[in-house]
Amino acid sequence: MRLSQILISTLRDDPADAEIPSHKLLARAGLIVKTAAGVYTFAPLMWRVVRKFAQIVREELDREGANEVMLPILQPKELWVSSGRWDRYVNDGIMFTLKDRKGSDMCLGPTHEEVMTAYVNAQVNSYKQLPVNCYQIQDKFRDEIRPRFGLMRGREFIMMDAYSFDADQAGLDEAYQKMRRAYCRIFERCGLEYTVVQADSGAIGGAGSEEFMVLADSGEDSILFCRDSGYAANVEKATSRLPDAPAGGEPLPMEQIATPDVRTVAQLEAFFPGWTAGRMAKTVLYHVTWKNKARVVAVMMRGDLEVNEVKLANALDALAVRLATDDEIRAATGAEVGFAGPVALPEEVPLLADESLQGRTNLLTGCNRTGYHCLNVNLGRDCRQPSFKDLRTARQGEGCPLSGRPLEQARGIEVGHIFKLGTKYSKAMGATFMDQGGKPQPFVMGCYGIGVSRTPAAAVEQNHDDKGIVWPASIAPFECVVAMLDPQRAEQVMLGARLYAELREAGVDVCLDDRALSPGAKFKDNELLGFPVQVFVGRKAGDGQVEFLVRRGMQKSECAAGEVKARVLAALGR
Ligand code: ATP
Ligand code: MG
Repeated sequence: MRLSQILISTLRDDPADAEIPSHKLLARAGLIVKTAAGVYTFAPLMWRVVRKFAQIVREELDREGANEVMLPILQPKELWVSSGRWDRYVNDGIMFTLKDRKGSDMCLGPTHEEVMTAYVNAQVNSYKQLPVNCYQIQDKFRDEIRPRFGLMRGREFIMMDAYSFDADQAGLDEAYQKMRRAYCRIFERCGLEYTVVQADSGAIGGAGSEEFMVLADSGEDSILFCRDSGYAANVEKATSRLPDAPAGGEPLPMEQIATPDVRTVAQLEAFFPGWTAGRMAKTVLYHVTWKNKARVVAVMMRGDLEVNEVKLANALDALAVRLATDDEIRAATGAEVGFAGPVALPEEVPLLADESLQGRTNLLTGCNRTGYHCLNVNLGRDCRQPSFKDLRTARQGEGCPLSGRPLEQARGIEVGHIFKLGTKYSKAMGATFMDQGGKPQPFVMGCYGIGVSRTPAAAVEQNHDDKGIVWPASIAPFECVVAMLDPQRAEQVMLGARLYAELREAGVDVCLDDRALSPGAKFKDNELLGFPVQVFVGRKAGDGQVEFLVRRGMQKSECAAGEVKARVLAALGR
């Protein structure tokens, strides 16, 4: 391919809305162009990257016996009602919905469990046809609250989504392991530094849900891990050994103390010398939504720890939780914000507490009276006994649940997610097969996703320098560029064309940069575009000498034309 025939338009500056390196670089290199918030056009070179990554995904999934299919993006409401997800997705606001000309509700698929389950159910009647694993690579639509970071969080983005159907749990376990293996090979082939972490499986429960995280400072996910035990979990899911806190001693009589304008843990610590945050129990009020109701719930947490909202939603089997507003707090507790507590909490407000408070005595808490707090509160004596759950956010430095060694923290970009669904969808949708005894059984399902547009962006996040992108060779738009510094000069054109042909013949994915740019601009452009190996044919072309650049580390050297092929192949590890 000649670059003069490819639409390339690199920019001088980063776009104003780009915050992280991959977004800045992909936009500045002209590889992605914003069409609307979270909606991007892929330029020709970027589309090559996406196609190469998609091809790696295909090869590895096909090796494990998965079948590529193509499902519709436009989906009828009825399918989503049959799984029970229509209301939830509509309420969340995540789903793009529309009406057709007859007034029927439709949506643009944010995910495809429903369509795939209906499809496989219609095709598979007997256990003899199982297992089945189908996948597609296609655009997904999600009206994300905060589309940002370029391809990282789009509203229209490309996903590989796979769904496995088995006769029993053992079959699912095997399907899951196959996908896990395939995922590892996929991300390894892209040269990505990644880690597999335990993930929240939401209200669905189930034994297995793991996320594949590319480690990067700009990652939106937080990971806790232990080098000793190998434990690694998304902070949404992570647990830790309970940090020590003073037990509290023999129960003492409760005292109510006037604390005007003292509302926060820090203010209480200052007001009550000797009462550290670890001896307090703060009471946080949440607005919780279930399918058919919503109410305010009180959550007690040790003063020095934080509530994990994902764990809270799971513990309550809720659709959504959020902090209650000031008005909701006043209405639920009868007191101003900052004085909520378990003491005299109205009966209709459910009371939960984190495990770290179990067995603790003589706490400092609020008592739902504006301007007052209570000392020596004993749960079950001075107030209701709360229901104890693991509700806290585990933190760096706390003990690993397996080894007890301090947990470390890192940031990650979720590039893939594998998930044991079990029979949630098959039961809801009545999707069954005949077992050996001729009895209908629900399919045991798994689902598996890879961010096909997010992963190349994550690769840039891990592979760039101050000059631009440093593509891993397996997904680079081209593995190698041969650039003529002055395409007007016959000896450069001839040598460039010769090297280009030679490299193509050797199986290198090479392009010829014959654009009319100044040598300086050409160097800069190719550095920014990030081709892994770059050969510059310049003034010494007549002497059979070229400049050879390995983009990673910017190692530049002179090279005889006759050695170019061998050096390119060596640089590409062939
Ligand atoms: P996130 O937690 O980042 O919102 P998710 O858990 O909702 O993602 P899944 O439904 O598991 O995402 O989707 C499978 C994969 O699709 C994710 O692992 C991620 O790589 C990719 N993905 C999800 N949402 C987006 C998005 N808005 N833009 C780009 N890629 C996405
Ligand atoms: Mg996910």
